[in-house]
Amino acid sequence: MKVAIIGAGAAGLATAHELLQAGHEVSVFEQSNRIGGIWAYSDEVEDDFLGRNPRQRIHSSLYEAMRVNLPRELMALEGFAFDDSLGAEVALRYPRHDAVLAYLERFADASGVGPHIHFGHRVAEVTCANGGLAPENAAVRLSHEEWLVDGVRFDAVAVCNGHYSEPYVPDLPGFETFPGLALHSHNYRKPDVFAGKRVVVLGSSVSGADLSREIAKVAADVFFCGRLFLDMPPLSSQTTPTKRAPPAERFDGAAVVLADGERVEGVDAFLFCTGYRYRFPFLKPPLATVDDNWVRGLYRQLILCAHPRLAFIGLPFRIVPFPLFQRQARWFARLLNGAFALRTLAERRAERAKEIRALRAASKPRRHYHFLGDRQVDYLNDLAQQCGDAPVAEEFVRLWQTHNRHARRFPDDYRDRPLLAK
Ligand code: FAD
Repeated sequence: MKVAIIGAGAAGLATAHELLQAGHEVSVFEQSNRIGGIWAYSDEVEDDFLGRNPRQRIHSSLYEAMRVNLPRELMALEGFAFDDSLGAEVALRYPRHDAVLAYLERFADASGVGPHIHFGHRVAEVTCANGGLAPENAAVRLSHEEWLVDGVRFDAVAVCNGHYSEPYVPDLPGFETFPGLALHSHNYRKPDVFAGKRVVVLGSSVSGADLSREIAKVAADVFFCGRLFLDMPPLSSQTTPTKRAPPAERFDGAAVVLADGERVEGVDAFLFCTGYRYRFPFLKPPLATVDDNWVRGLYRQLILCAHPRLAFIGLPFRIVPFPLFQRQARWFARLLNGAFALRTLAERRAERAKEIRALRAASKPRRHYHFLGDRQVDYLNDLAQQCGDAPVAEEFVRLWQTHNRHARRFPDDYRDRPLLAK
């Protein structure tokens, strides 16, 4: 089949490789002039530090000193080692971001994907040419769809546009009264602007932890706040240079009021580490409807239930991204080959409805529907089983679990400590 791939980041490259391996013809459209997506670091930042103008978007959200948050072996795509042969820097178990870019560049070369990439092509519109759905009939494995990507006909489309570039900034009351510097981590590169300042960092996930640690080296005070710290003792009783506190709830001029009512006075700078949103400007509803950061209508987090030739590679989060991209892409490539029978539309919808019922019963908000975490191994094994592939290797699962324990135990310096099995 003739397949269009949108984006030449890790997901787009892995997808192109899997589709080529399965005998398909691929065209990868990449808006920039480089491969690597988010790993193509740029010093540049947007004029609006909160990133509210998508037309001004700079794709990469990495900061200068960023090091990976997974051991590099876990990040390797199957068949392509992420090892010392890439250079001295890579010898680190948790290398700097430029080692990942070098790895992806080598992958693009070695896998033969490179010549299929059309650089400088931002996809503006993807439409289903015949709009038709397959009859709900088990004998029909795939609907007979045709897709138009900026007017060019394809049999299928893989969306690999990334989801760490569109900042999410919560609406905090009183923000307009804050006289200090406010930015989203998307536009953070170096700590220099925070030297000697009193800084509040909101968001207790990976970026918030990394950046509050980095900023603390130059700032006068850092208040690291988020849901993880709801039960911390009051700020007045904390003696460490970085203080941990419940989430910021509102601004009152230069004061930040926290969820427990405490106030941080005289704040010079506020850093939102509040995450990102899915965005598909080239797909119009109902092809992509995002509701509270949940992409509606998906089957197996991967294809649209109603349009099996439209795939979204890499939507799940709290996962090991590169191997998940590869397994999803392989499933899609085999599906297009007719290597396994796709369930009927009614069955796909029933499976999705069941999954949603379970998430609702567990009181998960919609924005967590793509959160896989511990469920990722079962998810990958389900895809593998359908493709007739081997399940995820045991050593992969073990290393992932070891890493999780290690990062929880040594949150401040896990990257610099030996990764021990016990
Ligand atoms: P991206 O890398 O974002 O690539 C998307 C590509 O699509 C880009 O090249 C973009 O230019 C292109 N594109 C977008 N729209 C269009 C369009 N309309 N037309 C044409 N091209 C388009 N993962 C890890 O495995 N390990 C880590 O340590 C790690 N650390 C991270 C740290 C930070 C701060 C962040 C933000 C993310 C981190 N991740 C990490 C997650 C990382 O984003 C994924 O691993 C992965 O690189 C995402 O790949 P992707 O291809 O889905 O998206």
